[in-house]
Amino acid sequence: MVAGRSATLSESRAPWRQLKSELDAIGFRPSKRLGQNFLLDEGACAGIARIADTREGETVLEVGVGLGFLTWHLLERGAQVIGIEIDRRLASVARRHLGEPEALELVEVDVLAGKHALAPELLERLPDHGDWSLVSNLPYAVGSPVLVLLSRTPHPPRAMTVLVQLEVAERLCAGPGDSDWGPLTARLAPLYEARFVRRVGPAAFRPRPKVDSAVVRLERREVALEPERLERYDTLVGALFTERRKRVRSPLASVVGGLEAADGLLARLGLDPTTRVDRLEPEAMLRLADCLVEPGAAEG
Ligand code: SAM
Repeated sequence: MVAGRSATLSESRAPWRQLKSELDAIGFRPSKRLGQNFLLDEGACAGIARIADTREGETVLEVGVGLGFLTWHLLERGAQVIGIEIDRRLASVARRHLGEPEALELVEVDVLAGKHALAPELLERLPDHGDWSLVSNLPYAVGSPVLVLLSRTPHPPRAMTVLVQLEVAERLCAGPGDSDWGPLTARLAPLYEARFVRRVGPAAFRPRPKVDSAVVRLERREVALEPERLERYDTLVGALFTERRKRVRSPLASVVGGLEAADGLLARLGLDPTTRVDRLEPEAMLRLADCLVEPGAAEG
């Protein structure tokens, strides 16, 4: 460990024993609500940083720095890290043990400002040009909104490599018709391609969680979707998935003003009105959403 303000990265990660006794000394008890399960396994941390494939000098956002275990590997690979951490006690331990490197900007804030917005302190720091990535062992309670909200920023990340609970990983990698397919994946699918990388068992963490986790990598597709289009798409996805097992014509009717209008629109687009919402391809939902702005779109 490097003590004091060295402005360089410590040579190696501080040993868990040392960190644990520091945490005990300040009466720290990990919070379940904040998902404070630290990824102790060095190999897993290094593996995530490797899969993230960040480039020298690239900006990397890490949500939930914790004690800086993953952060150390990101910095070691030459990333410029914007670290977000809600818990000041953890942020101060992480800062000290990482050696206060210049390449790390650690922001002590809740990543979310309410249910549907990212913290302004984060938004103002995100790059507005060039490649950047999200690499995080995401806290469970905020993981899904963080992914969707980052994908909706004006200049979204080129890739998001995340460690999440297995159940969330399965949702992220699901496709239409799968039991795990839902609004989260439907919102991400037009912009990102998800890949299940590997499972991580509870033994890799302290404290050990009750469930398995997994690494997922989401890569941005080569598509440009204007914010207005995405906004309409999100509204439609929200409306359709309130009745995910119903035939699409039923929830669509509530959006376009009646069953007749819904049938007309589906016929015009050549979509089967008996298809269930949870079997509808994102591309079909995008085409439907595009029609919602045209006057008389529903009139067939
Ligand atoms: N990156 C560390 C690691 O891999 O060991 C810690 C990951 S731990 C799963 C999640 C971290 O996110 C915790 O340090 C927790 O305090 C932090 N956290 C939880 N909710 C947060 C929020 N709303 N905003 C910012 N950080 C949050």
